[in-house]
Amino acid sequence: MKNLKMKRILVVIAIIVMTSSVVFAAPVLTDSVNVVFQGKDVDFAQKNVYKEEGHIYVPFRQFFESIGYDVEWDAASSTAVAKDPLRISNSVDREQKVDAALWQLSAEARACFIQAFNLATLRFDQALEEYPDVENLAVIADIDDTLVDGVMYTADVLQDGEWTNEAFGKSLASEACKPLPGAVEFMNYVVDNGGHVFYVTNRVSSLREVTFEAMEELGFPMVDEDHIFIREDGMASSKESRRNAIEKDYQVVMILGDNLEDFADLFPVTEGVQARRDAVDELYDLWGDKFIIFPNAVYGDWEKAVYKYDKSKSLEERMQDKKAVFDYYKYTR
Ligand SMILES: [Mg+2]
Repeated sequence: MKNLKMKRILVVIAIIVMTSSVVFAAPVLTDSVNVVFQGKDVDFAQKNVYKEEGHIYVPFRQFFESIGYDVEWDAASSTAVAKDPLRISNSVDREQKVDAALWQLSAEARACFIQAFNLATLRFDQALEEYPDVENLAVIADIDDTLVDGVMYTADVLQDGEWTNEAFGKSLASEACKPLPGAVEFMNYVVDNGGHVFYVTNRVSSLREVTFEAMEELGFPMVDEDHIFIREDGMASSKESRRNAIEKDYQVVMILGDNLEDFADLFPVTEGVQARRDAVDELYDLWGDKFIIFPNAVYGDWEKAVYKYDKSKSLEERMQDKKAVFDYYKYTR
């Protein structure tokens, strides 16, 4: 009985090890097995490796500890857990965002936001000079990662959470919800000087209430149904119709965003990285003038463009697409 149980455990271990891309580099021998894991030799005490019915069995703890993983045994649930101490997230695609999130938390990112809002203030002053008699000057701003910092929520998701609107809503109602530096000051500057501000966000309707409460709490002006345009049920992610509705009655002198979709529907993600770069160049004079863009290395249409927003692609195919972008811009190409 005990032997049978041990056998079952070893089979499970063998499956786990095999699905973790273990490559048996040498012919299987009863007393000598070489194992390579992600390019590194795994150092076993051979006495713990044995062969039976064409399978090689290796001990879970010894395997993972030998490649630097931490191994824990939860006796209550009879679960062995191996964790790579060099990884923060539990999946490859999330792990690739860790440095991006750290960058969003950096002093350099902070300086970029302050710089952009200083520029926006200067541009609004120029607009006041240019249109001294116009009473309906307006600024349109995206909310997330333009006015409100989402990086603390991202940091939580990257570690052990799942991105859901419910969890996001909770973060908006918590201490994690902070304005980006210069955002509250700029939006109030516009209103204090006779302008109007509009918030065009792709937050969904279930986040309406918490959005209004949080924006008010953070000190943003004109927080009401006439000035906050969320993404209503059934509405496309494009912000064009909402921008057009505002531009019908107001002279929009500036648009603020962290994603090209915040400015115009001219940067199709399905056409890839270079097409979007070209489209940005076509509007050269607008950047830093009517269009003020903020850095977001964590997420955005830029990442969809890498795989031309083909949702049918697997993670492996998307990894190949990432490599293809590097190859395209390779200086030795
Ligand atoms: Mg945004």
